[in-house]
Amino acid sequence: MFAQSPRPIRSVLVANRGEIAIRVLRTCKRLGLRGIAVYSDADANALHVRTADAATRIGAAPARESYLDIGAIIAAAQRMEADAIHPGYGFLSENAEFARACDAAGLIFIGPSAEAVAAMGSKINSKRIAEDAGVPTVPGYHGDAQDEATLLSEAKRIGFPVLIKASAGGGGRGMRLVEQAGDFAVALDAARKEAQSAFGDASILLEKFIRNPRHLEVQLAGDRLGNLVHLFERDCSVQRNNQKVLEEAPAPNLPEGVRQRLFDAALKLGRKIGYDSAGTVEFIMEAGDDQPYFLEMNTRLQVEHPVTEAITGIDLVEWQLRAAAGEALPLQQTQIRQSGHAIEARITAERVEMGFQPVTGRLERVIAPQDMRFDTGVADRAEISPYYDSMIAKLIAAGRSRESCLARLEAGLRELALLGLPSNQLFLRDAVRHPLFAEGRATTRFIETAFPDGWKIDAAELRLLRAAAATTWLMKEPSVPETTEWTNPWLRQRPVRVMASARAARSTVMLTDEYGAAEIELRYGRGGVEAMMDGEVIWLGVVAGSGDDLTIAPEGRTETLHVCRDGSRICIARNGLAISADLVLKSEAQRASDADARSGNRVDAPLHGLITQVHVAVGDHVEAGMAVVQMEAMKLVHTLSVPRAGRVTGIHQAVGDIVPAGTTLIEIDVIEEKEIS
Ligand code: ADP
Ligand code: ADP
Ligand code: MG
Repeated sequence: MFAQSPRPIRSVLVANRGEIAIRVLRTCKRLGLRGIAVYSDADANALHVRTADAATRIGAAPARESYLDIGAIIAAAQRMEADAIHPGYGFLSENAEFARACDAAGLIFIGPSAEAVAAMGSKINSKRIAEDAGVPTVPGYHGDAQDEATLLSEAKRIGFPVLIKASAGGGGRGMRLVEQAGDFAVALDAARKEAQSAFGDASILLEKFIRNPRHLEVQLAGDRLGNLVHLFERDCSVQRNNQKVLEEAPAPNLPEGVRQRLFDAALKLGRKIGYDSAGTVEFIMEAGDDQPYFLEMNTRLQVEHPVTEAITGIDLVEWQLRAAAGEALPLQQTQIRQSGHAIEARITAERVEMGFQPVTGRLERVIAPQDMRFDTGVADRAEISPYYDSMIAKLIAAGRSRESCLARLEAGLRELALLGLPSNQLFLRDAVRHPLFAEGRATTRFIETAFPDGWKIDAAELRLLRAAAATTWLMKEPSVPETTEWTNPWLRQRPVRVMASARAARSTVMLTDEYGAAEIELRYGRGGVEAMMDGEVIWLGVVAGSGDDLTIAPEGRTETLHVCRDGSRICIARNGLAISADLVLKSEAQRASDADARSGNRVDAPLHGLITQVHVAVGDHVEAGMAVVQMEAMKLVHTLSVPRAGRVTGIHQAVGDIVPAGTTLIEIDVIEEKEIS
């Protein structure tokens, strides 16, 4: 395809992982280019590796030793005879040294010039260039002086609240809000240390903190021949921890005058630096105001680029490839049209109700909604490791109007089933149908405004799904005895539908899932199944199941739920909520709990994660409550302690091991209380 281009590209190495690697590979394939994947040890079986024409290992699981290792990636490209490298987003995508290393090795960097990357990589520098270009920036300080006295006096001039930002920051990290002068010194010190350790650069800038802003941005595309166009705007105001969650194009309820200002400002800045690839100029604007302020420029493909592709029909990766190959942009500004509306939802492996805490573990099944774009990095039996970002997929809805697009997105968020691991899916479903978002009035404070007490799972939905999980389990559980009290109609005649003819039977099961525990009494009667839980009656109606699905009719209409079984666990999803439930008959549970009371002789991993510290050795004496192991799941640290006093008799895992939840880590010989006293 690019054989005749000034700089021919026949094969592309994608220096990234997950959904973006797969998305880039898709365009390579369509254009007849050879797509090459790279992987770390944690990703040897990842979907992006299986999607590529060829794949090569670049190092150990930690990003620093693989996806951030410039030498390893250049060597991989040479070994695999790639002509070009696509960096995706994150990792090395905005690293000027990497862009230069590609040039030096004779590899085409699919992105802008190293100079443009360097110029925009520093927020301080990019603000100065924006000012030179006549683009309004957020009121603030981005000078050379970095001493505390200057910064404090600048903060006072700007007026509190101010935001201290790491000049090299990204991904929503490296920011600190300071409400008053008295808090400034402490916050500055912390911000500097964080900036130095996270980004290797302690430079700080100050910005006026805008109380209730919208995040607006403009997609730019340029080529090596001096052409530069905009591909309209996006609104990415819905964020958590300063990172985007929902993104859309075009921006809703935006006055035409503001849109023009955004386009003009973005183009001015792009021209000033001779921008020659796809890139995004970000702005914030107080809601209801009409002056957007320049925030930063991202010199790469943006996570949310699909919404722009949806409304323009343009493949941005193709445009990046063409520009890098020295070709002219396929369209001129007047030929670029937008139609309809698109919204993207970022699907993350996170516990929203626990402060968006990332989760790791195994995703058993992924069932994508039909007829809509789903950019995923995961498929059935994907391992979500603690090493990388929690984003696993993106769901993108498009429609002729914003209303139809929203309806499609909400339906898609119900249809998508991610079995085996909690995600933010249900939260997203609730967010998109909240009036503030639905009416296009969201600001960056959307989440705190829409869910003032924090987002919670709807208790009735959870009860219904738990009842369904218990029903499925009973249907397939060979250990369920047929007693006079309990007659399992399915066990005798499966697969079969429980019809009105089934005679009354009941059973009580104990369920434990990600969200807690429940005691569920199931009753089979004439006309269907009902459950008693938390003092509530939950009607499931006529049920039937095959093992991979379960049909229920709680509201009269039949619904089919996706189910899978992972050992003793039942993973089941309905309308965007998924649980992984461990079940046991109440009678069995009682027997087990008697046994438990006798134990307390070990420490198990409460979650899937990395062992980072082991504080004891075999033979050590431990007191009850003493911390013995530290684990890390994504960026969170968990300290595990021994339940009872005793002597360590076994250490079954070592620092650096990644263990699934439930793994026994340490065993102790319990010292009976009477021995201690
Ligand atoms: P976008 O503006 O495209 O939404 P984000 O700022 O959310 O981009 O970041 C895109 C991805 O890159 C995210 O997965 C984020 O975690 C990662 N990322 C961005 N900047 C950094 C950085 N400096 N260090 C590590 N990861 C980063
Ligand atoms: P990053 O490089 O991490 O993406 P940005 O400067 O783009 O950093 O800011 C990320 C987000 O943080 C913005 O989208 C916005 O929600 C919030 N933010 C940044 N600067 C300000 C500000 N001055 N006032 C209020 N919110 C801000
Ligand atoms: Mg940003």
